[in-house]
Amino acid sequence: MTSASAPAVSVRGVHVRYPGKRPGEFLDALEDVSFDVAPGEFVCIVGASGCGKSTLLNVIGGFQRPTRGEVRVQGEPVHGPDPRRIFVFQESGVFPWLTVDQNIGFGLSRQPAEERHRVVAHYVEMVGLTGFERAYPHELSGGMRQRVEIARALAASPDLLYMDEPFSALDYLTRLKMRADLVRIWQHEKKTILFVTHDIEEALQLADRVLMLTPRPGHLREVIDVPLPRPRDIDAPAYLATRHRILDILAPGTALAPASAPAAPALDADVLVVGGGPSGAILASYLARAGVRTLVLERAVHPRPHVGESLLCSTTRVFQEIGVLDAIEHGGFVRKHGALWTHHGEEKSRRLPFQPIPSLGITQDWTWHVDRGRFDRLLLEHARAEGAEVLEGVRAVDAELAAGGAAAVRVQERGCERVLRARLLVDASGRGTFLGSKLRIKRNDPALRQFAVHGWFEGVERGPADVADWIHLHVLPGPRAWAWQIPIGPGVTSVGVVTGDAGFPKAGESVAEFFAGQVASSPALARTMAAAKPLGELVRDGNSGYAMERYAGDGWLLVGDAARFVDPIFSSGISVAAESAREAAAAIVAALAAGDTRAERFAEYAATLSRGIEAWRELVLLYYRLPRGVLALLDAPEDRAALQEVLQGTVFGAEPPALLARLRRAVAEVEANPDHPWHGEIQTSP
Ligand SMILES: Cc1cc2nc3c(=O)[nH]c(=O)nc-3n(C[C@H](O)[C@H](O)[C@H](O)COP(=O)(O)OP(=O)(O)OC[C@H]3O[C@@H](n4cnc5c(N)ncnc54)[C@H](O)[C@@H]3O)c2cc1C
Repeated sequence: MTSASAPAVSVRGVHVRYPGKRPGEFLDALEDVSFDVAPGEFVCIVGASGCGKSTLLNVIGGFQRPTRGEVRVQGEPVHGPDPRRIFVFQESGVFPWLTVDQNIGFGLSRQPAEERHRVVAHYVEMVGLTGFERAYPHELSGGMRQRVEIARALAASPDLLYMDEPFSALDYLTRLKMRADLVRIWQHEKKTILFVTHDIEEALQLADRVLMLTPRPGHLREVIDVPLPRPRDIDAPAYLATRHRILDILAPGTALAPASAPAAPALDADVLVVGGGPSGAILASYLARAGVRTLVLERAVHPRPHVGESLLCSTTRVFQEIGVLDAIEHGGFVRKHGALWTHHGEEKSRRLPFQPIPSLGITQDWTWHVDRGRFDRLLLEHARAEGAEVLEGVRAVDAELAAGGAAAVRVQERGCERVLRARLLVDASGRGTFLGSKLRIKRNDPALRQFAVHGWFEGVERGPADVADWIHLHVLPGPRAWAWQIPIGPGVTSVGVVTGDAGFPKAGESVAEFFAGQVASSPALARTMAAAKPLGELVRDGNSGYAMERYAGDGWLLVGDAARFVDPIFSSGISVAAESAREAAAAIVAALAAGDTRAERFAEYAATLSRGIEAWRELVLLYYRLPRGVLALLDAPEDRAALQEVLQGTVFGAEPPALLARLRRAVAEVEANPDHPWHGEIQTSP
């Protein structure tokens, strides 16, 4: 008889005894176990190895008869296995010869094809395997195979799920993720789950109630309610107190009092890097090569689109050092051999062919223009290959920093949250400025309020063959206004216009109108774009400058755009990302070796970064004050060499580039002389 009000599972006086090796000998596996499980409840059975927890699950599932006692499921005595109740085991039981969707639909052969497809699609999506429907198990990771197993169990629409250490063969991070996924699915599907584990943390993260068995013969020692909200905050005092209570029962003396000294949680990595763009990926490569356990969290799944497609020559040193240069060379990116400038008021253009940089060990006289989707994926894959762990589709939402070092980051992945811990946290989240915003140390740079509109085009007239693959920069008449022309591949050119705040789009002006107006303002750019057709939507991009008050603190550092953003005019962004990652990696390796991750350890890093970025900022501001002043340097051989050095990216040396002083003087002279032909062109800063 089935009773609506009956417990989902009722276990009464269950005893399991096995015969011994000799006549008259026996072995008690379970002794007088009794408990109930409510419908929809998530119950974990915990105990040491060999305590009889799997035996208990087998008895409840009808695979084994108890020596004494009785089990009822939904009021009915259990006499054997029942297809309405499904087991999920530790070893993945998926069929290797069936694809993911065939495995999941395996138990549904009696259903009409349409319904079967609907159910399979539903569970494929629920367990996050969309896109892998046609994959075979050997093409999947252990975590994915276990998801197939769970999906197959759920697709059969069971009343009850019995799970016997289903995640124990997985690595630590995958286990954490699978737990979060299981809770999400359980909350959605409202199945009753009986889950066996020897892992107390696992039980606490999952269960409504934890049943604790004694060592063999297993009997119920204690039942602990876990009325904590999900997802569980593993730092919350109530969580720690429950954990302490369980440990004290199962292994007296091993738990520390939670209020005074909570047990130090296991670290997920030495260094957590938030952001898998160029700065995060390069840093992770350096660290992994130095043997530092590094975990990168990237909210997107690469390849993802990104602005910023032109590189500087000096960055080649970093690519060489992390061993990715060959991959870039063979990545099909367009070689960038130089830069060409046009000015809206002049017919002539100016050229700057690049040169090797012997002081940095760079022998090639080119760098690259890159499709950032492909380029950033290549860098992140390289970090992975070097040994860094990379999680994509994982967004950092909060961080806690402990005085003296150590960091915990709360992350979100497909709606589930968990906490990851490390000795050090590096923010490489770009203009997302994850940590700077959280710490409220971000300050806008009022001198560099900029706006950009950009897109990819076909039919762009790239100029004479010898400069067609160079970057072209067009000086436009508006305040702080200019345009870039970057070859991305055969027939595809990235074009963007940038203006200062005085030139921002007017009320009612569409992005396309704004873009067309800026293009028309320069004869050279207008010629270039005469036959151009956009290959997609134009993208608008507010890209104002900002700086953080500090670049490092106790247990944390900022790299790349997460530390500071100046302006894109000199294509310095990826160079800063790479150089900051290089300097940060050196500081981190030394700090970890010394066992000291306090702020003082990173003071030199912060000073070097600041010096380099300040040099860029001053160059940008002097340029915006009088663009022609900087272009004129290209006409004088001695200045040209100095400018070349800076524009190729060598600004991270011990001293600020001498060129800046020279340029400062030149601009001041024009400013002071009302009769100078360029005097009227001086732009005042806000
Ligand atoms: C209009 C414009 C033009 C530019 N042109 C150039 C150019 O030609 N050349 C050049 O070198 N630079 C250029 N730049 C600058 C360049 O785009 C950046 O400097 C560069 O991308 C910085 O790299 P990064 O790794 O620090 O940050 P990003 O490349 O932005 O990477 C940050 C990563 O962090 C991830 N992330 C963010 N928040 C979180 C979170 N909470 N959790 C997990 N992940 C997160 C993001 O998804 C992203 O993948 C330009 C910038 C602009 C605005």
